[in-house]
Amino acid sequence: MEIKESYDVIIVGAGPAGSSTAKTCAELGLDVVVFDRNNEVGAPKRCGEGISFNALKRLDLDIPQKCIAQAIDGAYAYAPDGKEVKIQFEGTKGYVLERKVFDKWLCYQAAKSGAKIISKTPVTDLILEDGFVKGVVIDVHGQEKKVYSKIVVAADGVESMIMRKAGIRTNKSPTLVDSGYQYEMAGIDMRDPHMIELFFGNKIASRGYVWVFPKGEHEANVGIGISGAHKEKKAKEYLDDFIASHPGLAKGSIIEVNAGSIPVGGLMEDMVGNGIIGVGDAVNQVNAIHGGGIPEAITAGKLAAQSIKLCFDMNNFSKQVLSEYNKQWWELRGKHLKNVEKVRETVENMTDDNLNDLADVLNGEDLSDFAHGKNIMKLVKIAAKYKLKGVARKLGF
Ligand SMILES: Cc1cc2nc3c(=O)[nH]c(=O)nc-3n(C[C@H](O)[C@H](O)[C@H](O)COP(=O)(O)OP(=O)(O)OC[C@H]3O[C@@H](n4cnc5c(N)ncnc54)[C@H](O)[C@@H]3O)c2cc1C
Repeated sequence: MEIKESYDVIIVGAGPAGSSTAKTCAELGLDVVVFDRNNEVGAPKRCGEGISFNALKRLDLDIPQKCIAQAIDGAYAYAPDGKEVKIQFEGTKGYVLERKVFDKWLCYQAAKSGAKIISKTPVTDLILEDGFVKGVVIDVHGQEKKVYSKIVVAADGVESMIMRKAGIRTNKSPTLVDSGYQYEMAGIDMRDPHMIELFFGNKIASRGYVWVFPKGEHEANVGIGISGAHKEKKAKEYLDDFIASHPGLAKGSIIEVNAGSIPVGGLMEDMVGNGIIGVGDAVNQVNAIHGGGIPEAITAGKLAAQSIKLCFDMNNFSKQVLSEYNKQWWELRGKHLKNVEKVRETVENMTDDNLNDLADVLNGEDLSDFAHGKNIMKLVKIAAKYKLKGVARKLGF
């Protein structure tokens, strides 16, 4: 495939953030190319693959059947002592996706709109001139090639080196990045293959939780996320212990192993520089409670493309013009995600006894609200009533 000397926009990474930015840029009439280092877009998958109907509606995404593994009605959340809270109402319905198919489908949409997507082409460096990012260096089958653009988009996921190369720090300390480990399992028995299950407790997953996201009657993603700062025991070890103690899972097979990091904080006030803009996991745009980043990545891509278009309209590719994206994103998603982050900080500092107490007094709707950063006053009041030391303070009250 011919790779031109220059494009209007170069996007690094063909995940949901990159393909969403590419699609909107192309729809706005820009000449856009996406480079992805992997042979296959969407693979390896590093995801529990959950997405809610509410998120799909918000994104105005009508996904085809082939992207869907299983329809989900709700969730059971289990406290450390086994007490359960059922979370089942309209807002908790959703899908477990086939993420590899879904990511490709997003790229199909971008390509149909006129974007060019080129896989197996890692970006190895940035071209920096006069204080501006002016393009990238790519590796084309072992050959270095320089490609120029007015704007480079860092959509290169949680390990983003593009932002760093542009001199922009991305707040990726171990306390703000969870270690995720997951098996796609088959031949297992679950309580209900249309309900996800979430298991809390410091012995199960220190400062995190284990999830079971059904992908069929006897198949599921069984995974764990724990603080990246936790060094005593690895995420894989916690997960293996959990599976060993659940006979319905222990009898199954491991079809796929997925490991990855999840940003759970560190939202950035400033995600742009001269000629560069960050989207998705690269700039920590993830729900810090449930780790959902697909909808955030797609939303950010759409917003970023609008600000990029503004640069072309003004023929000004500076940080100053791109900053419009910071403003728009914080208004639409940032404030809300910041609240979610506060709840995450609170919950992860709770003891098992605190969590057991909470399971006594909270219902499914409360849990869902907290996971979406809503109704925080209720959490504060409960904290006060049950003398959960430090909770109200953590929430800023
Ligand atoms: C274990 C785990 C479970 C999760 N579960 C869920 C879930 O259930 N629901 C949910 O919504 N989210 C979940 N997430 C989060 C979700 O996967 C991410 O938030 C989402 O993928 C972010 O999209 P992105 O486009 O920003 O980054 P990514 O999807 O990571 O895409 C980045 C792309 O950039 C490419 N790339 C990187 N560097 C380069 C380079 N130098 N040159 C070229 N290409 C490059 C990569 O190949 C990749 O394709 C989970 C994450 C983990 C780790």
